[in-house]
Formats: sequence, structure tokens, C-alpha cells
Amino acid sequence: MKIDCIFKAERSHDECEQLIERIDFADSLSGNSNVIVEYERLLANYFKTKHAIAVSSGTAALHAGLSETINPGDEVLVPAICVPMTIAAVLQAGGVPVFYDCQIDSFKPSVISLDAMRSAKTKALITVSMWGYPAIDLQIKTYASEKNLVIIEDTAPGAGTKNSGRYEGTFGDIGCFSTHEFKMISTGEGGFILTDDDRHAENVRSFAHIGFSKAEGSFGFRTGLNYKLSSLQASLGISQLNILDEKMTKRRRKIALWQSYILQNIDMSFFNASADFNHNGYSLCCLINNTEHINAKGLANELYIHGINTDTHRYKNSIVAAYPFVREYYNSPRYSCIIKKDFPNAAALLNRLLVLPCHEAITEGDIIMATKKMSLIVSGK
Ligand SMILES: *Cc1c(COP(=O)(O)O)cnc(C)c1O
Repeated sequence: MKIDCIFKAERSHDECEQLIERIDFADSLSGNSNVIVEYERLLANYFKTKHAIAVSSGTAALHAGLSETINPGDEVLVPAICVPMTIAAVLQAGGVPVFYDCQIDSFKPSVISLDAMRSAKTKALITVSMWGYPAIDLQIKTYASEKNLVIIEDTAPGAGTKNSGRYEGTFGDIGCFSTHEFKMISTGEGGFILTDDDRHAENVRSFAHIGFSKAEGSFGFRTGLNYKLSSLQASLGISQLNILDEKMTKRRRKIALWQSYILQNIDMSFFNASADFNHNGYSLCCLINNTEHINAKGLANELYIHGINTDTHRYKNSIVAAYPFVREYYNSPRYSCIIKKDFPNAAALLNRLLVLPCHEAITEGDIIMATKKMSLIVSGK
């Protein structure tokens, strides 16, 4: 692949040296060491939250957050456009996923759809900041608090995105981030949870530490799993957090390049372009203006054949309700089971949406090459 959404994150010499220094300084390499305490302090400080809890993945963060806030059998509102991991965490926590539609040109929930899907059993709302784009605002937050819904933000790829002066992942009750290799803070595998609520923080931490009770100083008082992050990963996380702002600046520059070449050559527009927010630069979401000749999935397929692998190709622009592992939930009488009818905004958006990578390994030459290919494919030449 010449351009690939799957990549190995760049590690500077400095970053590797710092990693060794921190490991030398660590009192242990487990998930209970002084390195973890420092990493969590720095995370809370960066995102301006009261608590940060390091965990072993973004999916673990979601599972721990959901286990703390719902009871088995509770319904959880989840977006039609998200990743299978979001839904898998709901199922693991014993929740029932109920799918809602997005707004016409945003990953934020359509309030009309939330109202239609909500029932007396609904306890939580999950918003998902796909590709680092905003999925929540103060209006959604107000709606959720009026309806007594806990908000869990799946901000896995959204570290650093700012919206109305706040970081994505700090609007709701619990923010869940991933630090997987491809994400903005890249530690190979890993994740963290942000919250301002003391009780949520204590219980989520306990869940991720095999049910360890801080008050009792021992195990066995509640259930949990071992979702601790190791100190090796946290050491990388500290370096990555230090360069997050610089990484965002570099990625935003790549976005500007993609945009300028696309505007010159291709009949496309940009997703959420006019909205007032500061995107972290995770990926660029573009929209095909005229899908008569080819839609986004078709374009992504053609690009793949030409050595360009995008998330659009990797995830096939699927509506999450259509995945076989959630079929029993989508078969519920509250849906017609016709995707375009149940999720009109999400279906229309995915028909046009192409996601372009902006990570370290993408060069200006790649961008020029890819936009030339895209121009020929989109115009049907
Ligand atoms: C990456 C991602 C996850 C999962 O994170 P892991 O660390 O791989 O478990 C969940 N949700 C979204 C939206 C993601 O992009």
C-alpha cells in the first residue's frame, strides 16, 4: 500500500530515550506504579478534568464506564455510525443497544431520533466522536440531563478536539479514549477514562483493578476485570501527551493540503466544514457531491485497488445496526429493518463519506498522487 490508514506511529529518538529513563525511574512496571500515577495526573491536567484513569484499551474504558453507570437489561442509546467496539462494550456490560440516527451533516445525535428511540428503560446515551469530529454539544448535554440519561462519550480517536471551548470527552459524565497505535496519543494498545465525578472515578478504577476496594484496602467486595495499563505503555503515553499539540498542528497542515488539492481537482466538499470547532486532525472526512457515477464505498474500493487504503474501505461505511452480531437487537419491533428508513441521515451521509488518513507517514507527494487518482475516478474518466 502506498497510502494506508494502517501504520506504525513514528517514534522520535527523544521519545525512546525518555521511555528508558522513565522505566528506570519506575518503582514497578505493573499498572500500579508511580509512572501510572504521573500519567494520570498529566492527563487530568491536560484535559482539565478532576480524574483520569489509565486502562488497557478504549474498549476497556467503555466497558468499565458502562459497568459503572448501567444495570443489566438497561437500554443504551448508540449512534448508527460508530465502531463495533462501542456496541460490544454495551453488550459486555449487559446493556441493550438501541440505535439512533445522526444529524444531517454531523455525528451528533438527532434529538428527534433520540426521542423516538428512548423508553422508560433507557439509562445512558453514548456519543461517538468518529475520526475526531465532534459528537456532542451543550444542547445534547441539556437534553440528556432533562431525560436523566448518563452520557458516555466514546472519544476514542478524539483526543485534542475542542468544541465550544471544551475538549471532546469532557462534556458528558464519562469520557472514554483509546491510545491504540493509530490514535492521537499512541501507546500501541491502551486507553483512559476522564470524569469529574468522584464516585464514577472510584468505581471505574475499582472495576479496572479487578474490583479492588480502596476503602477496604482489599479485593472481593465487588466485581471487575484486570484492565490496568502497564507502566511501559504509560511511559510512552507521557511522551505522546507532551507532543500531542505538535502532532495536531502537523496533522491539520496535512488536512489543509488535502483540502486544497481536492478543491482544485475534485467535485467534493468537506464534512462539518463550516462548524465552529477545532478538529484534532485525526482524519479528513470528505463528501462526494454527486454520487450518480460512484458512491463513497465504490470510490474507496477503486482507491484500494490503486494502493490507497482508507477507513471507508476498511469499515465498508457500514451502519452499525447492520452488523450480524447485533442482529437480534436490530430485529426489535421499533425498527422497520430498512436501513435507509430507520437511519436516513446516517445512510445518506455514508453514501457520500470518504475518510482520508492524515497520520505521520502521509507525505505531500502522497496527497498529490491520491487526489489525481480520486479526480479520475470521481469524474468517471
Ligand atoms: C479505536 C476506537 C475504539 C476502540 O479502541 P481500542 O483501544 O482499540 O479498544 C472505540 N471507539 C472508537 C470510535 C474508536 O475509533
